[in-house]
Amino acid sequence: MNRKYRKTVIAGNWKMNKTPTETKEFMAAFKGMLPKGRWCDIALCVPAVCIPAAVRAMRETRVGIGAENCNANASGAYTGEIATNMLVDAGCKYVIIGHSERRAMGETDADVNAKVLAALEAGLTPIMCCGESLEQREAGITEEWITMQIKLGLQNVTEDKIRKVVIAYEPIWAIGTGRTATPEQAQEVCESIRAVVRKLYSSKNARAVSILYGGSMNEKNAYELLAQPDIDGGLIGGASLVPEKFVQIIEAANQPIV
Ligand code: PEP
Repeated sequence: MNRKYRKTVIAGNWKMNKTPTETKEFMAAFKGMLPKGRWCDIALCVPAVCIPAAVRAMRETRVGIGAENCNANASGAYTGEIATNMLVDAGCKYVIIGHSERRAMGETDADVNAKVLAALEAGLTPIMCCGESLEQREAGITEEWITMQIKLGLQNVTEDKIRKVVIAYEPIWAIGTGRTATPEQAQEVCESIRAVVRKLYSSKNARAVSILYGGSMNEKNAYELLAQPDIDGGLIGGASLVPEKFVQIIEAANQPIV
């Protein structure tokens, strides 16, 4: 982390878990144990039907609610889809874009890019995900792959908007597997992502962009991962479903920075 130049962001991704009723219960418990300090931004990205309950429960807090996906079009004949202005109107501040689970359902880099642009246009903070498969890591093409994802995902994102984008590095082999990247592995890729942003924009902008790590981050390994200079927070799946665990990860973001 580097709190001097950029925000630390701890974001939860509930995936397809919890009903609106369970959301209300979670939020009541979570609210009661929310740390007082403001050492990081907190986001909870929840299933679309849970957004109203989550927004209502977190209204007076510093927790921002987000969606797990959006459609890049403003409106129209896209049955089952949700536009960014709908998310804003529902009270969302964030939206996850390009999660590997959605890419596995057919989402392309071009789709990711269109969604990032739509989210920025609507005033949402996109959490743009990237990550390599185990085969790609073993073939030694991680950096190349991630560089391509970042370049394609950020196409036409202008200088004045780049700082609004949060990037999440999520190695596919670490998501939901209990197999976390080592802090060194995660740092190495996050550092290379920052280098790509530097080349595309500027040192100043690269320094200001928050890059998160995601992939089996939990209350036990968060401290060490967050201690890395280029890891500015976490995108957390499983551990964000349990208030006690999620709070411990937020607390791990309150560590002295060298
Ligand atoms: C995720 O869904 O983005 C994720 C990182 O999941 P988990 O923390 O469960 O690995």
